[in-house]
Amino acid sequence: LPATTSINKEGKELRSPICCILGHVDTGKTKLLDKIRQTNVQGGEAGGITQQIGATYFPIESIEQKTKVMEQYEKLSYEVPGLLMIDTPGHESFTNLRTRGSSLCNIAILVIDIMHGLEQQTLESIRLLRDRKAPFVVALNKIDRLYDWETIPNNSFRDSLAKQKSSVQAEFENRFTQIKVALAEQGLNSELYFKNPNMSKYVSIVPTSAVTGEGVPDLLWLLLELTQKRMSKQLKYLTDVEATILEVKVVEGLGTTIDVILSNGILHEGDRIILCGMNGPIATNIRALLTPPPARELRIKSEYVHHKEVKAALGVKIAANDLEKAVAGSRLLVVKEDDDEDEMMDDVMEDLTGLLDSVDATGKGVVVQASTLGSLEALLDFLKDMKIPVMSIGLGPVYKRDVMKATTMLDKAKEYAVMLCFDVKVDKEAEQYATEQGIKIFNAEVIYHLFDEFTAYQEKLLEEKRKANEGSAIFPCVLKTLQIINKRNPMIIGVDVTDGMVKHGTPICCVKPDPVTGKKTAMLLGTVASLEVNHESKSSVRKGQTNAGVAMRLDPPSGQQPTWGRHVDEKDGLYSLISRKSIDVLKDPAFRSTVPREDWLLIKKLKTLLDID
Ligand code: GDP
Repeated sequence: LPATTSINKEGKELRSPICCILGHVDTGKTKLLDKIRQTNVQGGEAGGITQQIGATYFPIESIEQKTKVMEQYEKLSYEVPGLLMIDTPGHESFTNLRTRGSSLCNIAILVIDIMHGLEQQTLESIRLLRDRKAPFVVALNKIDRLYDWETIPNNSFRDSLAKQKSSVQAEFENRFTQIKVALAEQGLNSELYFKNPNMSKYVSIVPTSAVTGEGVPDLLWLLLELTQKRMSKQLKYLTDVEATILEVKVVEGLGTTIDVILSNGILHEGDRIILCGMNGPIATNIRALLTPPPARELRIKSEYVHHKEVKAALGVKIAANDLEKAVAGSRLLVVKEDDDEDEMMDDVMEDLTGLLDSVDATGKGVVVQASTLGSLEALLDFLKDMKIPVMSIGLGPVYKRDVMKATTMLDKAKEYAVMLCFDVKVDKEAEQYATEQGIKIFNAEVIYHLFDEFTAYQEKLLEEKRKANEGSAIFPCVLKTLQIINKRNPMIIGVDVTDGMVKHGTPICCVKPDPVTGKKTAMLLGTVASLEVNHESKSSVRKGQTNAGVAMRLDPPSGQQPTWGRHVDEKDGLYSLISRKSIDVLKDPAFRSTVPREDWLLIKKLKTLLDID
């Protein structure tokens, strides 16, 4: 393994900064990493770039070579031993960015496609970076796709841009400005990295091409500059172990292993380690410390290089017993001689138990499941902002028992009888069980999509509820008789809608003093069976919708049939016969949003008129 620490000018021992890449799919994250990995052909031996577990290590020599072209613009200094790039781009980056307990990512690269601007996962990444207060730079990738771009391979962006035609420079300027505006809309001040007036207030933008390598020197230079100058404290090598689990993986011949990024300290074969587990803390001993074989040596895939010890910063695979339930994204602690193992177990479990604060105290809410602690944390933050309550949280694949938790919502609050899953596998049996029980499982790789699908589903449920309760939902209306068309069997009245909305199925009444008590009493005339305006059939007519009269035919009530001229006549106002129950139906979320404000005011008036409490 290459040396992983270096001594800087002040005699301090520094470790490599750890960098992760995130951004929307297809912006070029993988390609950019590949390009940085490529050895510079003219330079010959750029050597030392090593593929590690979940990460690539770029020793400072290779970075020196790649950033040479920056000499004409910047003073170059190389103090850190190299750069460790986590190379699981995409949503896995959620693992790496945690609010607490993780020093995994010192600096992030947010990749944006210059031709596409800000996309959904870009927004999600920005949100995450901001929530986690993670320092980052923007790689504005695919500049070679600007029309007529002339390539100078592996050149600095500044030189390449200066040599472009003015039309290309103009297109660049135009697209860059648009993206700057879009970033500002997200609350981010940004500037081209070499014009950045204040690195702590403005995000630096580096235009790059992962295809031609242009801008890659600028990007590497900036990463070094930012980490060396602004993070030298964080990069001081510490002997205390700081390590994070990236992934839990079954490997043939090794059983369940964990892929770990060691950001500080030394791990030894045989070390006793403590991890956060799905069902409680895990204490075990390191059986093997493994890294992939050097690229030059062609060995069979499953063979790893064993190490007695490894020093930060690097990515390493650990084989040990009892790792099956280990939680990705959690810390790994090493037990030293005088350490209290129980205390450490509590401490490490905090990574998971701390998230339980997000669970709604009323016990109502959705079931949430994610792949790693980091992604779970990100999802919970998002749901909190969206005011979606959470009933239960989980990590890893979805099994039947997880679905069972959601079924408790079927009676309590059907709209929450769902599972929101982020980047996890759903077991076949669990899927089948969910279908049988009527539990919706949403599984997406973009948090926004989960939210969109969930809100669409809720709207669908409400629509179904509206359909089912249509009969008992009575909209308020006040009608004035223009002319009686047919006195009975059926009663047909020409009316004007003076307030609210008359609708099929609405019971219509008049209000008369009771002949004995003198108390105002509602008399049901019938329910609306049809409505016609100018001989055209309507399902509803709202006040102001027509100047013409509305011919309203009523189905008679089941009991006594009132007679026009005796029980009711032209002088009587006609109203929807609303009731306590019908008001409650309209108040239900299924209808509430469909009732305009003026209708609520009218309901209030009718309540008084009809003497409803
Ligand atoms: P990821 O999903 O962000 O990892 O994106 P990839 O690295 O897989 O790239 C997506 C596509 O964009 C691939 O077809 C790449 O070849 C292409 N691509 C990536 N970077 C560039 C670039 O700088 N210029 C051009 N022209 N194409 C690029």
